[in-house]
Amino acid sequence: MLNPVLTAQGATVVEVVPLTGVDRALAYRTPDTMRDQVHVGSLVRMPLRRRHEIGIVRRLGSDSGLPLKRLRALTDTVYPFPAVSRDLLQLAAWMQVYYAASGEAVFETMIPAPIRRGLKPKRIKVLKLGLVSPDAAEMAALQQRAPKQAALYGFLKTQAQPIPRTEVLKRLKVGAGSCDALIRRGWIVEELHREERVAYDDTLAGAEHNAAAEEFTLTGEQAAAAAALAKSLESQQFAVHLLQGVTGSGKTEVYLQAIFTAVADGGSAIFLVPEVALTPQTVGRLRTRLARVGVKAVVWHSRLTEGERFDAWEALATGRAQVVVGARSAVFAPVLNLRLIIVDEEHEPAYKQEEAPRYHGRDVAVYRSQLCGAVCVVGSATPSLESLYNVEIGKYVVNKLTRRVDDRQMPTVHVVDLRREAPKAGEGGTLSQLLREKLCERFERREQSILFLNRRGYARSVICPECGYVAECTECSLALTYHRLDERLRCHLCRHEEHMPQACPHCGGEEIRRRGQGTQRVEAGVRRLLPHARIVRMDADAVRRGKGFRGVLADFRLGKIDVLVGTQMIGKGLDFPNVTLVGIVDADVSLHMPDFRASERTFQLLVQVAGRAGRGDRTGEVVVQTFTPHSAPIQFARHSDFEGFLSEELAQRKAFRYPPYRRLVRHVFQGRNPDKVSFFIEQWARRLEEMVGDTIEIRGPTPTPLERLRGEYRFQLWYFMESVTRSLPRISEVRKGFAMDGAVRDVLDVDPMNLL
Ligand code: ADP
Ligand code: ZN
Repeated sequence: MLNPVLTAQGATVVEVVPLTGVDRALAYRTPDTMRDQVHVGSLVRMPLRRRHEIGIVRRLGSDSGLPLKRLRALTDTVYPFPAVSRDLLQLAAWMQVYYAASGEAVFETMIPAPIRRGLKPKRIKVLKLGLVSPDAAEMAALQQRAPKQAALYGFLKTQAQPIPRTEVLKRLKVGAGSCDALIRRGWIVEELHREERVAYDDTLAGAEHNAAAEEFTLTGEQAAAAAALAKSLESQQFAVHLLQGVTGSGKTEVYLQAIFTAVADGGSAIFLVPEVALTPQTVGRLRTRLARVGVKAVVWHSRLTEGERFDAWEALATGRAQVVVGARSAVFAPVLNLRLIIVDEEHEPAYKQEEAPRYHGRDVAVYRSQLCGAVCVVGSATPSLESLYNVEIGKYVVNKLTRRVDDRQMPTVHVVDLRREAPKAGEGGTLSQLLREKLCERFERREQSILFLNRRGYARSVICPECGYVAECTECSLALTYHRLDERLRCHLCRHEEHMPQACPHCGGEEIRRRGQGTQRVEAGVRRLLPHARIVRMDADAVRRGKGFRGVLADFRLGKIDVLVGTQMIGKGLDFPNVTLVGIVDADVSLHMPDFRASERTFQLLVQVAGRAGRGDRTGEVVVQTFTPHSAPIQFARHSDFEGFLSEELAQRKAFRYPPYRRLVRHVFQGRNPDKVSFFIEQWARRLEEMVGDTIEIRGPTPTPLERLRGEYRFQLWYFMESVTRSLPRISEVRKGFAMDGAVRDVLDVDPMNLL
């Protein structure tokens, strides 16, 4: 029931969600003077307890039932336009339920910090000629008496545009007094101008930038895909397309055509990439091509300054810009009339936010598109099984690009069986004979190589270097994890555990304890092999200390580096024409992670890496080193057999009823005292089993694979369910009534990507 004192428009009473502290909507009165400025989604200031806070108008009208005179009044609006569109408000409500997140956390993610603080556009003082001008005699007198004033006046006379005050005074070495004297006589005037802070810094040199933005005649496959997307956009109905195109098939060009279609009739578009720093070429190409047709695109990423962030955001919220290119959080861009969201490299785990609200950028993109009746395009050369499954059940439409635009050959993939490599002491280290030969060859030919190491040093799985035996849980088909604390191997899904074997149960080999290698050791190995080569290691540490990502990539592009050793660089658009060799030093690290997506990740990694090697007339080569060459992802990737991999992997997932066949929620409990943590998680598990055990499958509790993180012990539970929207609210309900020691925290992660 609406409050009876409402006016017809309902604008007298509004419901406001404060952005800090209070996790619910409160009723406020709108003063008459503000009536026209308060809309759904407006950012307003209002009194709250003894302070002033900023909040979002969630609704005009309220059910609070309080009489008007008892309500406090809003103070003012922060911006003259709504800060959060209606669809974003609905999206926020959905995220709170679906990701079991607080409204505060959702709005904090959705609304950038400078906007939450009410930052204003930057205005600067500019000078220009006044309406009154000195006659010849006055001018002569001025030159005599006040040469500084004369110089300033003379300079402004030559300028077509108003000039920033500070800048011109400094340049002409004129004091503020002289300037003000001229202003008093009306010969010059001072005005405040809006200054736009540049929201994009492009490390590419101009020439390269423009070359990258050349226009092409679409190939037949590109044209067909573009036409399908155009048709979908023109129907103005929600749809999700999976653009499945092999590396180098020209997906970006298809995205661009879709953006052109979307903006042609006044719509706007969001273009998501996993990591902006890794995609300078794609971003540059998009912006240049859009600028040519008068479409303004802003870039959104974590390294923008507050001012740049504000300007980019405001340009979108007011419709000055129609397109945003950015990482995950750009999915919340306040664009007007959203018609299209593109999620490039949709399989990338970087789309998942690993802190509250733990949302998945791709899934939020799909949901937001649905709210707006927009089209969502998710693209990849190696789509996630979730997306492929959605194609299978008819939720997504698939459009395929099967050929590379230049008909370039796929690189040759060599799989090195490390079991056969006699352990060679000293030089080379973990580099096989074949990889060493190829590295030397490349160096002699002045071609470049990339050595890829999976995530730094995380190899807790147990593998026999002699026979390739991997310790696995037979119930869950997951690699068992070695726990140093008590020398045991554990499955992280069921509660199976066993002793760390002294010798390989399969061949009796005694080397079984061997662990994976770190980047530093590989780098040292390459240095010994090629003492005169320029070798650069790129991992998180090295990047922090040294030139940064972009710097290293720029050097690599310019040929200043012969061998790049790195942990994460398989970004899209990183086509380095001179790279003809890619080595995957230890494929087993990702292959035997205690994660049901281990095979999928490895397959994606191998196919993506292979797609980076060799451009133009030079065919690339890939060397994959592994103790388990027989494993499915390696065999399928070697033959680029996508369909084969897919059917085998889906069958596996189905057999064990893993996602995408069921939904997964991970519940982690953590704290400094391991006994307390395990006590509470046991209690909770029992209680949950009683309350909802009939509708979800609960597994655990077990220690997490990474059992200690930043001094805290971590235990986990797994919930398998048919539907998150049906089952999660019930879990959240039980959680509300469960009292826990303040020293133990728990985190619910819906559709988790990181299982460590
Ligand atoms: P993908 O994203 O599918 O891996 P890209 O979109 O990066 O592929 O395109 C690969 C390369 O092919 C780029 O250098 C791009 O400029 C070029 N390209 C794209 N479309 C065409 C075309 N129709 N004709 C010629 N070259 C093209
Ligand atoms: Zn198990």
